Amino acid sequence: MAASRAGPQAGLAMATHGQIRAESRATKALLSVVIPVYNEVDNLRALYQALTASLRGRQYELVFVDDGSADGSLSVLSELVDTDAEHVRLVELRRNFGQTAAIAAGIDHSQGEIVVLIDADMQNDPADIPMMLEKIDEGYDVVSGWRADRKDRMLTRRFPSRVANWLISKVTGVELHDYGCTLKAYRREVLQGFRLYGEMHRFIPAYAGSVGARIVEVPVRHHPRLHGKAKYGLERTTKVLLDLFTVKFLISYSVKPIYLFGGTGVALILPSLAVLVFLLVRRLTVGTAVLSSPLFQTSTMLIILGFQSILMGFIAELLVRTYHE
Ligand code: UDP
Ligand code: MG
Repeated sequence: MAASRAGPQAGLAMATHGQIRAESRATKALLSVVIPVYNEVDNLRALYQALTASLRGRQYELVFVDDGSADGSLSVLSELVDTDAEHVRLVELRRNFGQTAAIAAGIDHSQGEIVVLIDADMQNDPADIPMMLEKIDEGYDVVSGWRADRKDRMLTRRFPSRVANWLISKVTGVELHDYGCTLKAYRREVLQGFRLYGEMHRFIPAYAGSVGARIVEVPVRHHPRLHGKAKYGLERTTKVLLDLFTVKFLISYSVKPIYLFGGTGVALILPSLAVLVFLLVRRLTVGTAVLSSPLFQTSTMLIILGFQSILMGFIAELLVRTYHE
């Protein structure tokens, strides 16, 4: 059992644009199913059985990550390791780090060429996995589950999630109906070079899209939670939104930050200069005083801000050199 190094301080190295290849048939390749577990004691045995049933005949490992559960999940997991050491692996985190960190730890400790992520709460259905692996066989790098008939609360979960999915699709350019669905299958290559923290596991498809992965969306089953409690509510939306900005920035500008900062600077300075010229011309022709105009103060301020932004861009460029060299 290993303690994970993928805590909140996990390193940031996202800009490695890996080559995406499509080979290896999913039926023969080793499959790793990574399962984050936080207080799911009453779901684990049924989950294990469902997974085992749907993966029969394949080469697979089930990588359970205990995310600091306090309800006895860990002892059930140890029991599963004892009964099926051939397939069950256990990663034990020292405390509760959150779903994303748990997933990152599981991926780090898995070996399969193909990685399937799935929730432990039986809301996702392991019976969907074979169908997703067929899509990998067809040559896709990411198979994204879509809970077309989602069994969660409307107001606090489904509605915010619709808005979030629309926004993430627009911002990242990778159009998916359901970024939030954990059940997805990946070729390992697309998971490399993307460090996961915060709420970022949901953005893996967007990152994969940015390095040229072939992505397909498939409807998957979704069940109401029968045992245990959902760990999240509406507050997650804010985190997801902030992570979206970060991910967008990392995907688009981590290699050339001056384009963002410099671009902002120029966008502030040019119109402000035009305003100053207008004020000057007005002073010379009509005679209106320049200094007393609020336009003068505003545009001066924006010019200063613009220069600051460009300077920040230079600092960011210095930081990024570490990567280029
Ligand atoms: N989870 C985790 N650590 C946490 C919270 C959740 O590993 O801090 C796991 C949880 O056990 C489940 C999955 O992440 O397997 C999704 O959690 P949950 O069902 O609460 O989220 P929802 O389905 O409501 O989005
Ligand atoms: Mg759930």
